Amino acid sequence: MNIVDSVVSANENYSRDFRLGSLAMPPSRRLAILACMDARMTIEPMLGLKTGEAHIIRNAGGLATEDAIRSLIISHHLLGTTEFMIINHTDCGMLTFKDDGLRERLKKKFGQTAPTPRHFLAFQDLDENVRQQVEKVKSHPWIPKDIPVRGFVYDVKTGRLREVVPATVGA
Ligand SMILES: [Zn+2]
Repeated sequence: MNIVDSVVSANENYSRDFRLGSLAMPPSRRLAILACMDARMTIEPMLGLKTGEAHIIRNAGGLATEDAIRSLIISHHLLGTTEFMIINHTDCGMLTFKDDGLRERLKKKFGQTAPTPRHFLAFQDLDENVRQQVEKVKSHPWIPKDIPVRGFVYDVKTGRLREVVPATVGA
């Protein structure tokens, strides 16, 4: 059995005992989380959240890309979330390569360039990356200034979250 078939068949079991059919669309705890896609993070149990309580937006790196910001804007303005959390983690794959190197490798492998993605957005400094993503979200003109946007690093070895202190406090 291929992988997709095996998870589709696991869903058969899941749906047999399904009791979440009456959840409301807006997240009940009004929280939106932007996190890396890393397979070692299971966001809900990690944060004591249940289905229906938070929006979870994920991509490689937990980056405030145009699409992640699109989701956060929809999350707040249409679905009522009032606090944002950005989660990166130790041992992230995004720390292991450089944009140019990957681009060259793919160009060689496929014998052609590609219009997208324009950037892979690899980074070298975890805390600094978190600060930048927080800043990017906070400074967006359509994200209200009174929405807390806090950044964290999750340790994949201990399961602990550590808050990343902003470079400059106040303003
Ligand atoms: Zn990662």
